[in-house]
Amino acid sequence: MNKIFDVGIIGGGVSGVVIALQLAELGIENILFEQKASVVNGPPFCHLHAGGNLYPEISDEQCKLLMKQSIDMARLFPQSIDERPTFISVPKTEKYSLEDIERRLQMLVSYYQELIDEDPLNEILGAPADYYKIYTSEDLKKLKNNPSFKRPNSPDEWMSNAIQLIDVDKLKMPVVLVQEYGWNLFRLGAQAQLALMKSDKTNLKLNTEIQNIKDVREENLDYNWEISTKDKVYKVNYLVNSSGFKTGEFDESLDLNVERLIEFKAAYVSKWQPQEGLIPELIFHGERGTPHGMAQLTPYSGDYYQIHGMTNDITLFKNGLVKSKREDAQPEFNEDIKDKLKNGWPNEEIESRTINAINYISKFVPSFETAEIGGPPLFGAQQIPGNDPELRVGEVSFPCRLYARSEIVKASSALSVAEQIIEKIQEVGLLKLSDKKLNTNTLLDSIKKEEIDVLAADLAKMRGYPEALSRLVIEKD
Ligand SMILES: Cc1cc2nc3c(=O)[nH]c(=O)nc-3n(C[C@H](O)[C@H](O)[C@H](O)COP(=O)(O)OP(=O)(O)OC[C@H]3O[C@@H](n4cnc5c(N)ncnc54)[C@H](O)[C@@H]3O)c2cc1C
Repeated sequence: MNKIFDVGIIGGGVSGVVIALQLAELGIENILFEQKASVVNGPPFCHLHAGGNLYPEISDEQCKLLMKQSIDMARLFPQSIDERPTFISVPKTEKYSLEDIERRLQMLVSYYQELIDEDPLNEILGAPADYYKIYTSEDLKKLKNNPSFKRPNSPDEWMSNAIQLIDVDKLKMPVVLVQEYGWNLFRLGAQAQLALMKSDKTNLKLNTEIQNIKDVREENLDYNWEISTKDKVYKVNYLVNSSGFKTGEFDESLDLNVERLIEFKAAYVSKWQPQEGLIPELIFHGERGTPHGMAQLTPYSGDYYQIHGMTNDITLFKNGLVKSKREDAQPEFNEDIKDKLKNGWPNEEIESRTINAINYISKFVPSFETAEIGGPPLFGAQQIPGNDPELRVGEVSFPCRLYARSEIVKASSALSVAEQIIEKIQEVGLLKLSDKKLNTNTLLDSIKKEEIDVLAADLAKMRGYPEALSRLVIEKD
């Protein structure tokens, strides 16, 4: 007879791996199915949204949640966090007000202080008083005469390096430097995969596509769900659906119809040698989906820079955001997007979209016009529960007994989702758990930096990206 697992998890993205690792920490036997050859291989992420400062239009509540959840995830995966700040600006053509941005930053400083008062280990973004710094045009004039700093050590040094390159005449004043950091998906994936391989509680099944699930809850068996691959059936007591933008497919097989959006997006990889010194991530706000949507330049190691431009020619796509229909829980992309997701991109489109992206950034950073294509785009589809495309903190739902559906919008929500699932498993009395709160994970803690370096580099290469994308700009011990 087949073994019965306490929990079966479909999908080894950031959400699925964190759920599996936290269950393992509590001694709960689980099985994690991922159709690809490695984990955390879905849509990309590059920015730890610790405060939501890339989204002027979201509520204070969402900003606070993003900050809290980002800090929690940074504590689990410190080797994936790139501790360089983010430059935030509003072009003169845009509607956003600097007063509103500053008011929100002040609110975030108080909230960050509260989180540190709750637990001093939450101080991962530096001292609260240094969370952000405002720079007037006078301040910038003074900094402009500075030499470039190879490895900046203070907000002023980071800002000096940035404004050597930026056309500040295009921007409203003041501008801001905030401690929102970079987030390296290859390093997070490597740490998670190494930890899962060490676990004797999680059975990690890579290259394993789930084709079907069967609800046997009412059949008086000693398990509740059957999970089938093309040649095997697995038995589990509790089912977690963390299959990313495909979540609706399993909902449909259970006749659970809910509203959701799925969105296809891409970021572009370029190579550029601006100056000796490192620069912060650069944000030029703009209204999403218009021809002047936000421009974002994210520095990586080895002179690689990733670009987002929130326009339909760059990061977003015509018909890239689709809704579920009344009778179908799984929204469907058009054939072009489906083809990209399955087979990758044609070279001409990599070239034309990356060049669009480089030109877009050059409007604010003139010397960026010398940047070149540095690799294939980082792209993918993500899920947004409900019907609000502005939602930034998607979560978990429990649409029927013994079934959890994870639908995170940002990678930072993964730990909060895992905690809620664990609580639910306790509530339904399926498993006896200790009430210890898990903001650490001994399996993750046991993985050494050197092991992460090696596997992260392999993952980047295996997926066709430059190895340098697997390293941090600010290396950690
Ligand atoms: C361009 C872009 C940029 C982004 N930038 C950021 C950012 O800077 N910061 C941030 O926090 N977030 C960012 N996001 C969002 C982030 O990528 C997602 O929130 C996150 O990856 C979702 O994780 P997940 O585990 O829920 O889903 P996924 O990562 O999609 O994981 C689902 C997994 O399920 C597997 N799967 C699906 N069906 C099956 C099946 N039948 N059998 C077996 N396995 C299956 C898939 O292969 C996949 O690995 C970005 C998204 C995009 C598209």
